[in-house]
Amino acid sequence: MQRHREKPERMEKVIGIDLGTFNSCVAVVEGGTPVVIPNRGGYKVTPSMVAVTEAGKRLVGHIAKRQAVTNAENTVFAAKRLIGRKFNSPQVKNALTTCPYHIVEGPHADCRLQLRNKVYSVPEVSAMILQEMKIIAEDYLGEEVRKAVVTVPAYFNDGQRQATKDAGQIAGLDVIRIINEPTAAALAYGFGKNIDRTVAVYDLGGGTFDISILEISSEGVFRVISTAGDTFLGGEDFDQRVINWLVEGFKQEHDIDLRQDRMALQRLKDAAEKAKCELSSVLETEVNLPFIISSARNEALHLVRVLTRAKLEELIADLVERTIKICLMTLEEARLEKDEIEDVILVGGMTRMPKVQKGVSEFFEREPCKGVHPDEVVALGASIQGAALVDDSEDMNMVLLDVTPHTLGIMVVGGYFEEIIGQNTTVPTSSNKPFTTVRDNQTAVKILVLQGESKRAEENELLGEFQLTGLRSAKAGEVTVEVAFEINADGIVSVHAKDVETGKEQSITVTSTSGLTHEEIDAMMREAQDYSVQRREDEETEGAKQEAQTLIAEIERLFPEVEAVVAGSDFGRDAIDKARTVVDRARDLMERNDMSALKEQIDALSRTQRMFKGVVGKST
Ligand code: AMP
Repeated sequence: MQRHREKPERMEKVIGIDLGTFNSCVAVVEGGTPVVIPNRGGYKVTPSMVAVTEAGKRLVGHIAKRQAVTNAENTVFAAKRLIGRKFNSPQVKNALTTCPYHIVEGPHADCRLQLRNKVYSVPEVSAMILQEMKIIAEDYLGEEVRKAVVTVPAYFNDGQRQATKDAGQIAGLDVIRIINEPTAAALAYGFGKNIDRTVAVYDLGGGTFDISILEISSEGVFRVISTAGDTFLGGEDFDQRVINWLVEGFKQEHDIDLRQDRMALQRLKDAAEKAKCELSSVLETEVNLPFIISSARNEALHLVRVLTRAKLEELIADLVERTIKICLMTLEEARLEKDEIEDVILVGGMTRMPKVQKGVSEFFEREPCKGVHPDEVVALGASIQGAALVDDSEDMNMVLLDVTPHTLGIMVVGGYFEEIIGQNTTVPTSSNKPFTTVRDNQTAVKILVLQGESKRAEENELLGEFQLTGLRSAKAGEVTVEVAFEINADGIVSVHAKDVETGKEQSITVTSTSGLTHEEIDAMMREAQDYSVQRREDEETEGAKQEAQTLIAEIERLFPEVEAVVAGSDFGRDAIDKARTVVDRARDLMERNDMSALKEQIDALSRTQRMFKGVVGKST
């Protein structure tokens, strides 16, 4: 006989967040079923945009997007492309030329974003989006949410993963697991289906491309066989091609470079993306931007141009080709033939483009699977993983075995890169390597830990410098230090060191190369909490004001009728005078922003409104 295992009455909810380059989405498992949580506007996805207004107010999501054209310099989009990147990386250099907002160098050679007169770290900006998703979930669930599973592109390196975790912490979320976006998509696809299948997940979003090959077993094991991608290839690059085409055309016609004007650039960006999306369902569209710029003679100039689907496909053909090459590489890594892939799952907004769908189905020689929503599937998968981590009941039984997308190693003599943990190794994993001293009486060793696929160390991503200190004084080669490298289930790397002879654990100093310090994170967390409290207060204030205004409008509307009925009696006139006083006082409190008194005054307004309704009701 088996003991019946009771579920705890109230299991803590873990939300799944797809922190996208362009849009973010939050989901939760309810009664064994994952559901996407709509935001207040009823939308299931929220733009990953943050802005600061002239008055210093923070805007996140749709409201930030709506004002992006008029406040381009202070509106951040696609922060995910910058997260965990160094200021002097080629990707950031590229962003410097294409982004209308200000990217500046931070104190750890990282990049930071200037909004109005304040400089923010990238994780801080991502935290604002995560905080928004947390609030959306809390509004829906009616309870505080503390735990989350956040997704990242499979191809994210350690720095990018760590920075995403930092963002969660700043937002007041305990990120209990980071999972890869394609893996999350496969989870949502295979969850509860009891299937044995080998699938490919092709994920082309706004900023990144990922491909993963997975084996799904009917016992609920999701095993990633290989993964690859490009963290700088996505919808934005497609938009950029359209922008370039529009800019070049305009230049030929008017000899003016629209890129010099931030506002024009933002309008072009919006128009290019809109045209690209429209061309997924129609064959041609007109880009029409009146008053885009003024000529040297101060004439207003307009941009009007027709873009056909065929032209768009020509402009972006090589980008689709790049994704297909990566698919081929991943298949080879997995040692699989195309016909061994039984289903292809499309994820990300860009997979709505017919040219992308055609490219994928031609390559895999099969139609991609229908029935998964490209914008929601990643968040749904994250919520499933979240629920499985806190709920050990039968129906949430599943195991996720992911891989590390990059080779982990160290720099050795001659500037070469020595592999310690190979690409596509199942995580969590660990590996040890012994190191010996190279000089007599050497008491410290410096180890550079890198991630990447190049044989030359300098071409890979530097994760950190590890200084092993306090070594025993001895001849060169006589001291052996064993260094253990570990990648946890989040894909995050850690390093420990031990003196082999004495067994003594070495103290190692990690010099963060682009991350944030604990002190910085603490300070940012406090600010985020203050914002959260302030926002709730503002919302309460707004709610109270609206309630008072509605009641006042109703009382005002009833005044003439009530006066006509009761004006004949002293008691009636007295009641009317009192009602006037109640309304006047409420208005005065609103003007003075005296919220605690206004909340009390709302009771008085409600009583007056009920009394008025009673009087009018009786007279009819
Ligand atoms: P995601 O990061 O998954 O939210 O994907 C966002 C990207 O998908 C953006 O570059 C969008 O412009 C693009 N996208 C959304 N809808 C469409 C569509 N109908 N056709 C082409 N691209 C689209």
